[in-house]
Amino acid sequence: TKPHVVVIGGGFGGATVAKYIKRFDRNIDVTLIEPKTEYMTCPGSNWYLAGLIDVKSLTHNYEALKTKHNVKVIHQIATDINAAAKSVTLDNGEVLNYDRLVVSPGIDFIYDQIEGYSEEVAEIFPHAWQAGPQTHLLAKQIQEMPQGGKFLMVAPPNPYRCAPGPYERISMVAAYFKEHNPTATIMILDPKKKFSKQALFYQGWQDLYGQMIEWYGAQDGATVTKIDVESKTAYSDFDEITADVINIIPAQKAGKIAFKAGLTNETGWCPVDQDTFESTIQKDVYVVGDSSIAGAMPKSGHSASSQGKMCAAAVVSSLNNLPMPETRNVNTCYSLISKDWGISIVGVYENRENRISGIKGAGGVSPMGMTQQERKMEADYARGWYKSITMDVWG
Ligand code: FAD
Repeated sequence: TKPHVVVIGGGFGGATVAKYIKRFDRNIDVTLIEPKTEYMTCPGSNWYLAGLIDVKSLTHNYEALKTKHNVKVIHQIATDINAAAKSVTLDNGEVLNYDRLVVSPGIDFIYDQIEGYSEEVAEIFPHAWQAGPQTHLLAKQIQEMPQGGKFLMVAPPNPYRCAPGPYERISMVAAYFKEHNPTATIMILDPKKKFSKQALFYQGWQDLYGQMIEWYGAQDGATVTKIDVESKTAYSDFDEITADVINIIPAQKAGKIAFKAGLTNETGWCPVDQDTFESTIQKDVYVVGDSSIAGAMPKSGHSASSQGKMCAAAVVSSLNNLPMPETRNVNTCYSLISKDWGISIVGVYENRENRISGIKGAGGVSPMGMTQQERKMEADYARGWYKSITMDVWG
C-alpha cells in the first residue's frame, strides 16, 4: 500500500504542502482536511477595504488540488490528533490513519489581555485578521462611519501574522476616507515601540493623507488594557479614546488543534526542526506556517508557502529514506500605501546553528524617496505577487 500523508489546514502552508508532495512523489497518497470549500485570503483583504478589488478576486477553491494534483480533500474540521496511534479524528467522527501528518492551522486569538474584550466583542469591534465575515463587517463599518468620525485601531503585540498588515490596513482605510470621508481621522494605539517598514509608511502617510493618521506606541503609554463596548472607548495608560469604528487586532497564538495535539511550547507556538519543520515534540508530525516557530522568518503567507515546499521535500525524503536537501526559505511582504504606491520587504533565509536566519546581503527593504514611477512599479509587483502565489498554492 502507498504511504499516506494527512495535511490539516488548506491555507497558504497546508495547501502548498499537499500540492508539492504530490508533485515530488505521485506514489504518496495525500489527504487535505479543511472545513471551508472556499478560502478567502488575508493578503489583498486590505485592498478590498479600500474598494480597490472585489471579494471574488480574493477567493480560491480546492478544485485544482483535487482534479489536477490528485489530492483527496475532505471538508471537515480535525478535532483530535493521536500521535501515538498516528491518527486524526474529524468532526464527523471519521478516523484517518497517517504515516506522516502536517499541521498548518494558522492562528488563534488571545482574548484575555484586554479587559472587556472577548470572542463576542470581536463581532462588534472586528479584528478581520482571518479573512471572511469579519472582513465584510469591517468594510461596512468603515463605509457607514459618520462624516468627520474617528477610526481607531488597537494594534497587536509581537509576534503576530503579517508584520506590516495593520499599517497597510491603516493606509487603505485612509485611502477610502480621502475619497469618501475626507474629514475623518485615524488613530493607532500600539503596544509596540516601532513597526515594520515604519519610515516608509510615515513618508507615504504624510505625503498622501496629511494629518489624517496619528500613531502612538508603547513609549507613549499607548498599550490598551481595557475596552468599553457601550461607550466605544479604549483605555490605555495615557488616555481614554472614544471612536466611531474600533478595529481591535488582539494578541495571537498557534491554531487550536496545535494546542489540542500538544504541539505548542510555553510561547504558545510550535517548535520545529529548522530544516524539515518536523515537530520537536511529536515524531512524524510537521508544523508549517503561522503556527510554527521558524526562527527569523515572519509569519506570512509567503513564508508559509516557502516552508510548505521545504516540508513537502522533508516528508518525501523521509518516506523514501533519502537525505533531506539543504534548504533556503524566502519571504516577500508587499504593502500598498495607495493604489499606486507600493513598498516591500524581502528576506532570504538559511539554517544557521539550528535557527532559520536571514542571509546578509540578500533581501532588503524598498528605499526611501522612490520616484513616483518606482512606487507604481512596486504596487504593480504587489498585484503580480498576489496572482502568482495564489496560483502556486491553489492553482
Ligand atoms: P492560514 O492561511 O490561516 O490557513 C489555516 C487553515 O487551516 C484555514 O483555512 C483553516 O480553516 C484551517 N484549519 C484550522 N484549524 C483546522 C482544523 N482543526 N482542521 C482543519 N482545518 C483547520 N501574507 C503575505 O505573505 N503577504 C501579504 O500581503 C499578507 N497580507 C496580509 C494581510 C492581512 C490583513 C492579514 C491578516 C494577513 C496577511 N498575510 C500576508 C499573512 C497570511 O495571511 C498568513 O501568514 C497566512 O495565511 C498563514 O498561512 P497558514 O497556512 O499558516 O494559515
